[in-house]
Amino acid sequence: MDCNARSLLFILPLLLSRVVPVFPIIYPPNEVNLLDSKASQGELGWISYPSHGWEEISGVDEHYTPIRTFQVCNVMEYSQNNWLRTNWIPRQSAQKVYVELKFTLRDCNSIPLVLGTCKETFNLHYLETDDDQGSHFREHQFSKIDTIAADESFTQMDLGDRILKLNTEVREVGPMTKKGFYLAFQDVGACVALVSVRVYFKKCPNTVRNLASFPDTVPIDSQSLVEVKGSCVNHSKEEEPPRMYCSTEGEWLVPIGKCLCNPGYEERSNTCQMCRAGFYKAALGNAECSKCPPHSFSHHEGSLHCGCEKNFFRADGDPASMACTHPPSAPRNVISSINETSVILDWSWPEDAGGRRDVTFTVVCKRCRGNGAPPRCEPCRSGVRFLPRAAGLVNTTVTVGELLAHTNYTFEIEAQNGVSPLAPRMRQYAAVTITTNQAAPSPVTVIKKEKTSRNSVSLSWVEPERPNGIILDYEIKYYEKEEQETSYTILRARGCNVTLNGLKPNTAYLLQIRARTAAGYGASSPSFQFETSPDSAFSISSESSQVVLIAISSAVAIILLTVLLYVLIGRFCCHSKSKHPDEKRLHFGNGHLRLPGVRTYVDPHTYEDPSQAVHEFAKELDASCIAIDKVVGAGEFGEVCSGRLKLPSKKEICVAIKTLKGGYTDKQRRDFLAEASIMGQFDHPNIIRLEGVVTRSKPVMIVTEYMENGSLDSFLRKHDAQFTGIQLVGMLRGIASGMKYLSDMGYVHRDLAARNILVNSNLVCKVSDFGLSRVLEDDPEAAYTTRGGKIPIRWTAPEAIAYRKFTSASDAWSYGIVLWEVMSYGERPYWEMSNQDVIKAVDEGYRLPPPMDCPATLYQLMLDCWQKERNNRPKFEQIVSILDKLIRNPGSLKITANTTSRPANLLLDRSSSEAPSVGTMGDWMDGMRTLPCKEAFSGVSYSSCDTLAKTSTEDLKKIGVTIVGPQKKIVSSLKALDSHTKNGPVPV
Ligand code: AMP
Repeated sequence: MDCNARSLLFILPLLLSRVVPVFPIIYPPNEVNLLDSKASQGELGWISYPSHGWEEISGVDEHYTPIRTFQVCNVMEYSQNNWLRTNWIPRQSAQKVYVELKFTLRDCNSIPLVLGTCKETFNLHYLETDDDQGSHFREHQFSKIDTIAADESFTQMDLGDRILKLNTEVREVGPMTKKGFYLAFQDVGACVALVSVRVYFKKCPNTVRNLASFPDTVPIDSQSLVEVKGSCVNHSKEEEPPRMYCSTEGEWLVPIGKCLCNPGYEERSNTCQMCRAGFYKAALGNAECSKCPPHSFSHHEGSLHCGCEKNFFRADGDPASMACTHPPSAPRNVISSINETSVILDWSWPEDAGGRRDVTFTVVCKRCRGNGAPPRCEPCRSGVRFLPRAAGLVNTTVTVGELLAHTNYTFEIEAQNGVSPLAPRMRQYAAVTITTNQAAPSPVTVIKKEKTSRNSVSLSWVEPERPNGIILDYEIKYYEKEEQETSYTILRARGCNVTLNGLKPNTAYLLQIRARTAAGYGASSPSFQFETSPDSAFSISSESSQVVLIAISSAVAIILLTVLLYVLIGRFCCHSKSKHPDEKRLHFGNGHLRLPGVRTYVDPHTYEDPSQAVHEFAKELDASCIAIDKVVGAGEFGEVCSGRLKLPSKKEICVAIKTLKGGYTDKQRRDFLAEASIMGQFDHPNIIRLEGVVTRSKPVMIVTEYMENGSLDSFLRKHDAQFTGIQLVGMLRGIASGMKYLSDMGYVHRDLAARNILVNSNLVCKVSDFGLSRVLEDDPEAAYTTRGGKIPIRWTAPEAIAYRKFTSASDAWSYGIVLWEVMSYGERPYWEMSNQDVIKAVDEGYRLPPPMDCPATLYQLMLDCWQKERNNRPKFEQIVSILDKLIRNPGSLKITANTTSRPANLLLDRSSSEAPSVGTMGDWMDGMRTLPCKEAFSGVSYSSCDTLAKTSTEDLKKIGVTIVGPQKKIVSSLKALDSHTKNGPVPV
């Protein structure tokens, strides 16, 4: 090595120690190195021609990493031509390669003694070959790429030292076609150090865009872009085919199309990742996974939807983002408004709609019978109409029509939403039970012509489809067709046929029929046309007159015979029926064997089959013998009608008909007929008489004698103060006599009250309203006691209220109250006092005061009936005889309780020492009367009894009488007393 060259030896360490520090080179990702001299730790093995030209030396780079460099500096000599050839570099897929050279170059001025031979450039060449040619080197085979010069300043002054600057030059080579190539550096007399040589080509590196992955792509030539198709990343699907262009610079351009993450996956860092637990993604798309909606969960990753919690559901059309829901609660506040045979049902929205808005309502109609649990229900017949409809109701109301009259219906109203079908067990409904009212019958629709003659026509028709009660009769209206209703005829018929007589021959008539029930007339049938026969026609067209005559006479004979037989059988039956029930009981008494002559009441409930009791004690009537006229009252089981009973060969009589309304239970039927079984055992002029029962056809009926004046209480109220004392006592005697009969039979009435006495047109009073437990259920006066049973408190003896000791003696107490009701013309016992106050007052010894103008004897009788000790009360037999005496001696009635001190005990079989207990209202009054007026009313300073008449209720309040009723009565009693002292006794 010459001195010049040696002098350069220090150049490199200097260079390397003084170069501006650079950070480790990170190559751009789109550059693929084919050669990097820095990467080689050992000798590079490049070839130098001549061998004293380029020299390979070791050094360290700016990071003190060992590197291999080449240098040449033969600046002192002429005609330099030094080549340095790289090893064979495989081209790989590159079409165009880049050569990056890092070098230092000394400017010739900085080298002393150079004689114009110094150069400041070197040349870069290349040679393409398909294979490695080893050390074989031919200079002329190489093509020149470029002359490489340093940047404008070769050297730089740094702190007074001359330092070398590292130059970087890049040259493009291509397009290349052969498998590999060599590079060669030609020095022609410069002082150059080749610090590093990097050969690379550019590519578009594999990448993921829009969830499509694009592979490494090498640009093809310098002009055009390469179109590359992407493929969707795992767990994603193409939405539009993904594409991108790779530029010659190794850059991706213009992404088109995209992929979307599958359901259950979301995009995270260019990949599709499973949704985490508690999240879900239902659809393809690049949206993030969503949190599970309320009342749902997902325990696993990658969920497409969240499962519903227990008792929550999702309907078919529900989106996955919707909360899980449940069926709604039942509708609330169901209100029914009944109008004859239709009902409007209204209700409120359910409290809990189940979390949904698609709530609709469905109404189910059921006909239920029986109060027992569960009641027997069946779906309503198909004719029932719902307006607007029965199911899928959006509004909270529906009208239900075409129901049967007098029938119990149960409507179940269910609120439903989209998930109701999924949770049948969670469905709830509100139920309402109604009973339809009576309604007019539906029109007659089927009319048939039976027989026509010149002057008459026989018609029959079918009962209306919905009679809605008992059809009382039919109205038949007809007129000549030509006269157009200007004159018409109306007929009534009980049955479903009629013969119209007196018609004109050969004439067309129009006819309409309408049915009548207790509810009135129904709509008329459509007009029915018929024509009478012409004059020449024979009434029965197809028969010969002889045959007809024979037929008619035989028919008449048969009818006469039947009637005769019927009358005979009827007589026989009536005779056997009229036998006293006790006689029969000896034979049929269901174990109730009685001694002949001792007439005792038999409880029909002790019969194994209660209907047997009915048939034992009540006569079965044929419904066709009964004609119903009008409704006169309402009983517990149905309407009470008046009507007529015509038994064969008997006079028609007026009767009351109690009906059992439709839809009854077995128990209701039994209880209803029990009254007949009881009544049928009695035969007394003061006990309502049973005519018979209808049990074999419907409606079931109890037929009794008719009592024109209805119940005693309302009758008396209607005729206030209109009867004489004898008349009143006569009525009372009748009641007492009926009660004597009942007590003799061993029957305890339990509900003796004026409202349960019926009065006929002759003012005869008869005891009615029989039954057992139902008597009290039926009575509106009956109230529940602390022990639970229902008792008509005001009429009932204390021991019966306290411990249900119902006996004839407790009936006697009730009789005392009836006595008071009669004498006060239907006043309410104890007026408006509450039941509790009545119980307390009676228990403390107080008794009702005498009604105005009440004969003292009768008031005494009342007090006797109200003895606390039940054995001290008069027996009905005694009551009857007391009343009989009074009737025989009407003068005794003139002494009224208001005007005299308390009379002696009237009971014959009791000593006068057994006087009624003190503390009655009567006693109070007696006390008042026996005291000087001044003393009695000291608190209000009355001066004489005359002034008592002026006593007002206010005054009474001052002396402690605060009950409104007694005040009124006491004031009136006092007024009566006043008038009596002035004018003598009030005549009765
Ligand atoms: P009941 O079911 O026995 O309480 O009867 C109800 C109503 O029907 C009574 O208050 C009477 O007004 C009437 N009623 C019952 N039975 C008869 C009858 N035999 N005669 C006349 N009216 C009656």
